[in-house]
Amino acid sequence: MLNYHSYESFSTQDGPWIRIVFFLQWCPFRCLYCQNPDTISTDKNKQISKEKILKLVYKEKEYFWKDWWVTFSWWECLLQIKELIPTLKLLKENWINTCLDTNGFLLNDDVKEALKYTDHVLPDIKGMTPELHKKITWTSNLTPLDFIRYIDEQWMNYRIRYVVVPWLTDNEIDIKNLWKFIQSLKNFQKINLLPYHTMAIEKRKKLWREYPLEWTPAAINDDIQKVKETLKNYIDEKSIQ
Ligand code: SF4
Repeated sequence: MLNYHSYESFSTQDGPWIRIVFFLQWCPFRCLYCQNPDTISTDKNKQISKEKILKLVYKEKEYFWKDWWVTFSWWECLLQIKELIPTLKLLKENWINTCLDTNGFLLNDDVKEALKYTDHVLPDIKGMTPELHKKITWTSNLTPLDFIRYIDEQWMNYRIRYVVVPWLTDNEIDIKNLWKFIQSLKNFQKINLLPYHTMAIEKRKKLWREYPLEWTPAAINDDIQKVKETLKNYIDEKSIQ
C-alpha cells in the first residue's frame, strides 16, 4: 500500500501529455518554498493499493486518447520505493506510461529497479552548490545530482526542473554552475524553469507559523527571462522551457 495525499485526473504539468497524478505523502526535504507542506509529514492517513490505482486509471481513461499516462509525484515518491516497484510493474504490464516526479534524494538498488519500469523522470535541482541546496532544503545535493547522472547514463527520458526564486536561485554564479552540471551530462534533453509563487504562504504559516520567504516576491516573466538569457549563452535555447 502506498501512503498518498491526493490524486489529480487531468494534469498537463506533471510529465508529457495528459496524466493522472498521484501525490504521495512524506518528504525528507524541508524546502523553504514548499507549496504543499501538509504532504511532508509521515501521517498514514490515506493509503492506496496498486490494484486500486490501476482501477482508477482505467476509470479515468476517457481523458486519455490512445494511451494511459500516470505520474507519481513528490512528496516524495522514492521514500516508498518498495511499494512503488510492484505498482510501476503492474502499470507497465497494462501498457500504461509511467513517470516519476522526484527530488532524487535516494539512489539504491530498489530505485534502480523501479526505474526499469519508468518511462519518464522529472528530477529537481533545488540548488547547484551544496550551500545553496542546504539552505533551501536542509539536506545535501550529492545524491540528487548522482540520481540525475544515473538516469542520464541509462539514456532515460528526463526533464530537469529548476525553481526560479528571486534573490535566491537566480544569480549568475548559480546559473553558471547549473550550466556546468548540464554540460557534464551525455543525454541532457530539457530543463523546465518554474517560477516561484507565493500561494502557499498562508498554508505554511498555519502549519509552521513562519515562512522564511515571506518578503520574497513571486517570480515574474522577467526573472525567468533573466535565467533563460544566462543559460542561452551555454545551452541550446530549444532545450529551455
Ligand atoms: S521536495 Fe517538494 S514536497 Fe519535498 S519539501 Fe521540497 S518542495 Fe516540498
